[in-house]
Amino acid sequence: MHNDRAETDATHDVIVVGSGAGALTGALVAAADGLDTVVLERTPLLGGTSAYSGAACWLPGTQVQERADLGDSTDAACTYLRALVGDAGADRREAFLRHAPELVARLENEPAVAFEWQAFPDYVAAPGRMDAGRSFIPLALPQEELGDLVHLVRPAVDRDRAGQGHPDGPLAQGRALIGRLLLAATRTGNATVRTEHRVTGLVTENGRVTGVKAETPHGTVTVRARHGVLLAAGGFEGDEALRAEHGVPGAAAWSMAPPGATTGDLLRAAVRIGAATDLTDEAWWCPGTERPDGTAAFTLGLRGGIVVDAAGQRFANESLPYDRMGRALAAARTPAHLIFDSRAGGALPAITVPPADPAEHLAAGTWARADSLPELADLIGVPADALTDTVARFNGHAADGTDQDHHRGEDPYDRFFADTRNAPGPNPCLVPLDRPPYYAARVVLSDLGTKGGLRTDVHARVLDDAGDPIPGLYAAGNTSASFTGRVYPGPGVPIGTAMVFASLAVRDMALPLPASGIPGGGTDGARSTVTAPSGQD
Ligand SMILES: Cc1cc2nc3c(=O)[nH]c(=O)nc-3n(C[C@H](O)[C@H](O)[C@H](O)COP(=O)(O)OP(=O)(O)OC[C@H]3O[C@@H](n4cnc5c(N)ncnc54)[C@H](O)[C@@H]3O)c2cc1C
Repeated sequence: MHNDRAETDATHDVIVVGSGAGALTGALVAAADGLDTVVLERTPLLGGTSAYSGAACWLPGTQVQERADLGDSTDAACTYLRALVGDAGADRREAFLRHAPELVARLENEPAVAFEWQAFPDYVAAPGRMDAGRSFIPLALPQEELGDLVHLVRPAVDRDRAGQGHPDGPLAQGRALIGRLLLAATRTGNATVRTEHRVTGLVTENGRVTGVKAETPHGTVTVRARHGVLLAAGGFEGDEALRAEHGVPGAAAWSMAPPGATTGDLLRAAVRIGAATDLTDEAWWCPGTERPDGTAAFTLGLRGGIVVDAAGQRFANESLPYDRMGRALAAARTPAHLIFDSRAGGALPAITVPPADPAEHLAAGTWARADSLPELADLIGVPADALTDTVARFNGHAADGTDQDHHRGEDPYDRFFADTRNAPGPNPCLVPLDRPPYYAARVVLSDLGTKGGLRTDVHARVLDDAGDPIPGLYAAGNTSASFTGRVYPGPGVPIGTAMVFASLAVRDMALPLPASGIPGGGTDGARSTVTAPSGQD
């Protein structure tokens, strides 16, 4: 593996654009199959949002669930997905379910890759759901095993945003997944990784995608692929103009993706050569608490507090899975606040990524604090009577143990994060707000990436408007439109589906090439088109 950064024009078997979990799975599978594979990553670091993630992988029916003796199966997962998504995208759903066990067996066959099941409930009550969850995570990875490669792996979100590297100790979660896939790909001897290669255009010859144009610190290079180009470069969550064009609510600044990394370059490039798109107003949503610097922190797993709108009313079950709470926020179209009391000493009763520093928030005004609810209401601009009434009604629900308004605490997911040992009432998800001073944290609509993008088929081939594959072009992860539509079925679906479709893509690429038009073998007589950023076509 090389990381020379300054690649001159070159030809490989497979080009993988991006370096998240899908990209590196595709690169590993291709390289392990003996294909000369290059990974082109725009930033100096590998892993994208995947490196920030918990690395839960929703890959049902595999040997990992079998080892954990969960009683899960591909059929149960199929029942669940059908119940949630219907039969739209059924062919891709089937391809996903069929390939997941094979992929995981193959990955775990690599000494560098190992997973273990972790309890985390599926997100929706529907037939086939696993209440304890069916997703798994990679084992932590000692930094020594990665050697110098560790410096290429993007650190956790809090450290990355602060410009810090990895702390001492093993890499965990998304860093472990990226590190393990990178290590395994390295060991094949067939993978090359180039950072600071921003792919902005696709090269086509006789209607086939045969390469890419990439901007590097040393100029623009053309990289060609004999077998195919896999676009696994994330979504367009970081691009305000594309968000506005496609009607994606929220804001680039509130997205959890690494700033400036995922701005839809490949969506634009593929559309320029005729690719079709789908679901482009969609994202993997989550509530965010606004941070003093204007970014947001992914906020989940509430152990207390309530969320109110500008009228001082609750509008959802605050313990909903984060994507569903995000959708509730989007539907409410309102400034929102998480109201909590001093039960936890002024700490937010929730998990936030990155963690919250109360003093910083209070100083910046992203949190407010007051000795009484009417005073707090004044500080955040909601009607004082309404807020007081809402809290009184909620405290009544807490005493009864039943949330008559939003049914909080009735679902296994709600209870998964509840502080059951210290719960003061009969329902651990309903914790009264009665310990002043009271706090309000600003809540915004954040996302873990857009989930609409290029239309693809069961082989992850990118389709044109007529539904025909564009030869040589593949997409996976958030660069493609998810077959899960407008539903986030469970923890690890973004990464699990990205991994499967990246693997299916390179498997398709590995098939014998057609006798004619083999790229990289000479372009005599070929019509060569280069797509470049707008204005340069
Ligand atoms: C805190 C947190 C926890 C999460 N936990 C989970 C979880 O446990 N399980 C799960 O499934 N999902 C989780 N998610 C969501 C998940 O991480 C993302 O949706 C998913 O990783 C996106 O994968 P991707 O491969 O599409 O993009 P990314 O992982 O973002 O990778 C895209 C890469 O492409 C690069 N790139 C972009 N443009 C170009 C270009 N023009 N040329 C070259 N390279 C380019 C980017 O720099 C980036 O490195 C979590 C997200 C967050 C923020």
